[in-house]
Amino acid sequence: MQQHLLQIIYLLASVSFIIGLKMLSGPKTARQGNFLAAIGMGIAIVATIFLYVNEKGVPLSNQLWIFGGIAIGTVLGTLSAKRVKMTAMPQMVSLFNGMGGACAAAISLVEFGHLHEGSAPGHIFVIVAGLVIGSVSFSGSIIAYAKLQEIMKSTKKLPGHNILTAGLLLGIAGLTTYLCVDHIDASIFYILFVLSMAYGILFVIPIGGADMPVVISLLNSFTGVAAAFGGFLYDNQVMQTGGILVGSAGTFLTVLMCNAMNRSLTNVLFGAFGGSTASSGGGGAKTEMNIRPTNASDVAMIMHYAQKVIIVPGYGLAVAQAQHVIHEMEMLLEKNGVTVKYAIHPVAGRMPGHMNVLLAESNVAYDKLVEMEEINEEFATADVVYVVGANDVVNPAARHDPSSPIYGMPILDVDKAKTVVVSKRSMAAGYAGIENELFGYPNCLMLFGDAKKTLSEVVAELKAM
Ligand code: NDP
Repeated sequence: MQQHLLQIIYLLASVSFIIGLKMLSGPKTARQGNFLAAIGMGIAIVATIFLYVNEKGVPLSNQLWIFGGIAIGTVLGTLSAKRVKMTAMPQMVSLFNGMGGACAAAISLVEFGHLHEGSAPGHIFVIVAGLVIGSVSFSGSIIAYAKLQEIMKSTKKLPGHNILTAGLLLGIAGLTTYLCVDHIDASIFYILFVLSMAYGILFVIPIGGADMPVVISLLNSFTGVAAAFGGFLYDNQVMQTGGILVGSAGTFLTVLMCNAMNRSLTNVLFGAFGGSTASSGGGGAKTEMNIRPTNASDVAMIMHYAQKVIIVPGYGLAVAQAQHVIHEMEMLLEKNGVTVKYAIHPVAGRMPGHMNVLLAESNVAYDKLVEMEEINEEFATADVVYVVGANDVVNPAARHDPSSPIYGMPILDVDKAKTVVVSKRSMAAGYAGIENELFGYPNCLMLFGDAKKTLSEVVAELKAM
C-alpha cells in the first residue's frame, strides 16, 4: 500500500515537472511554473524519506542526516538566490548545476561499493556512466563558475590540448568498458573518477568566458543525464523523469542558443569567439567613424515629439540595473501619447530570457515585449529606437559583412528607424569584441554614460516638458 502511494506521488511529481516546464516557456506563467515544479520535487523528496522501503521492507533510518543536509542546503540556496545580482545569474546557475553533477557522481561512488562478482553489466554501466558524466559536469561547471566570476582568467589552448583531451576520452571509454565486463576493481573506478574530473576541467578551460552560457547549458544537460542514470539505478521514476527532462531541455537550449548566434556547437566549444578583450572589428582594423554624441535633453526632446519609440535592451541594462528607470521613461512617454514597445533579441544579455526577466522585475507589461522576428518589420516605422546597453544584437555587420565574426547572426534591424539613440558608456565593444558600424551611421546618436544615470537624466527632462 505504502509503495503504491509512493508511486502515485512520483507520478504526480513527474506531471508537475512537465507542466512546470511548459509554463516556463512564457513570461506570464514562468514563475508559477517554477513554483509548481519545485512543489512537485519537494513532495517527491518528503514522500521518499517517509514512504520508501527497500526490498526487505526496511524503511530509511537516516532521516536526521537527510534533514540536516536539507536544512543546510535550504539556507545556503535561499541566501545565495536572494543575494545574487542579475548579471551574476549565469555563474550561480553553473554552481548549482555543478552541485547536481557532484550528487550524481557521489551516488555512483557509494553504489560502486555495493557491487559484487556477477553484478549485471548493465547495472555496472549505469553506476560508471553516472560517475563519468556527473564528474565531468561537476568539474566543468566549477571552472565555468570560476571564469564567469573572474576568479580564473581566460586561458589559451595549450599546445597538444586536443590530443590530451582526445586521449583522456579514449582512456575513459576504455576503463568504462573494462569495468562493465565484470572487472569490479575499485582502484580502476577511482582512476576513472580522477580522469573524468580532469576531462571536465580541460574541456571548459579553453572556452572563452563569454561563451560560458552555452557551455553551462550543455553541462546542465549532462547533469540531467547523470541524474537519470541514478533513477535507473534505484528504479526511481521521478528521478528518471526529472533527469530526462533536464537532459533534453538543456540540449534544446544549447541548440537554440547556438542557432540564435548562428554558430555551430563545435564553433562555440572549439572556436575562438567571445574573448574578454574588446578588440576592433569586423575581423579587420579599427575603422574611422563619424560619431554624433548627444545629450539627455535632446534625446528627451526627440522622443517627446515621436509617435513610436522602440526600446532595445541589452546586457548593459542589466549591468546598470536600469530596468526600473526605463519603465518610468516608458510610462512618461505613453502618458504623452507615444507608442512604446521593447524589442527582445533571443540572446540579448548573457543568458536566455535575461531581458524578459529583467523587465518583468520592473513590471513592464508582457505584451510590450516583442520578439525579434515580429518587431524587425516595425523598425522602419519607428521614429526613435533607444538602444540601451546593447551592442552585438544591433550590429548591421551581421547582415552584410562576411568577415565579421557575427556574420549571419540574426539581429534587430534598428538602423532602419528614423533615429537611433545608443546609450552606453564608451565606444568599447560588446561580448563579441568587435566594433559596431551602427555607431557611425548618419541616423545614429550616441548618448554616452552609465545607462541608469543617462536614463534618469532623460526621465527628468521628460518630466520637465
Ligand atoms: P553586448 O555584450 O554585445 O553589449 C553590451 C554593451 O553594454 C557593451 O558594449 C557595453 O558598452 C554596454 N554597457 C555595459 N555596462 C553598461 C552600463 N553600465 N551602462 C551602459 N552601457 C553599458 O550585449 P548584447 O545584449 O547586445 O549582446 C549579447 C551578446 O552576448 C551577444 O553577442 C550574444 O551572442 C552573447 N551571448 C548571449 C547569450 C544569451 O543567452 N543571452 C549566451 C551567450 C552569449 P560600454 O562598455 O561602452 O558601456
